[in-house]
Amino acid sequence: MKIVVNGINANLRFSSAHIIPTHGLCGHIHGHSYFVDVEIEGEQSGNFDFIVDFIDVKDSVRKVCRELDHRILIPIFNKKIKFKSSNHENVDMDFFKNKEYLEFSIEDKEYKIPKVDSVILPLKHSSAEELAKYFSDKISNDILSKGGDIESITIGVNEGIGQGAFFKKSL
Ligand SMILES: [Zn+2]
Repeated sequence: MKIVVNGINANLRFSSAHIIPTHGLCGHIHGHSYFVDVEIEGEQSGNFDFIVDFIDVKDSVRKVCRELDHRILIPIFNKKIKFKSSNHENVDMDFFKNKEYLEFSIEDKEYKIPKVDSVILPLKHSSAEELAKYFSDKISNDILSKGGDIESITIGVNEGIGQGAFFKKSL
């Protein structure tokens, strides 16, 4: 059996800017009003015979949406993003610890963005595909900690109505 939470109706949304480095159109900074769909497969269990409580699912997804909302998403493992004063090879989350600005170049374009306006993501891309994986990693622990008999979590990250990427994580 499965439960489904529809992000646009259940208000699991965030608005963010991003860049897909060197992509023709998406290589320019632009934004999306994202929404996140969730599907959880499992068996009914517990006091209420739920698969998992809808409230817990929505709380968990909204936490991640809030982290990303109204920020520019920077995937730090993208090799086309060259961070200033890094060796370009081993950039990790610690590299940004005491920085106020993210300074980087993508080919001949240079950027300087206040860190408070950004979210540093341990990803190769800020694509819908990678964000779907990111969400599923972030929420699976949360959901599992609530108990229940869960087989998989599928997350759909939609870049507005009509296009989204879905990632299924088996547990
Ligand atoms: Zn985009």
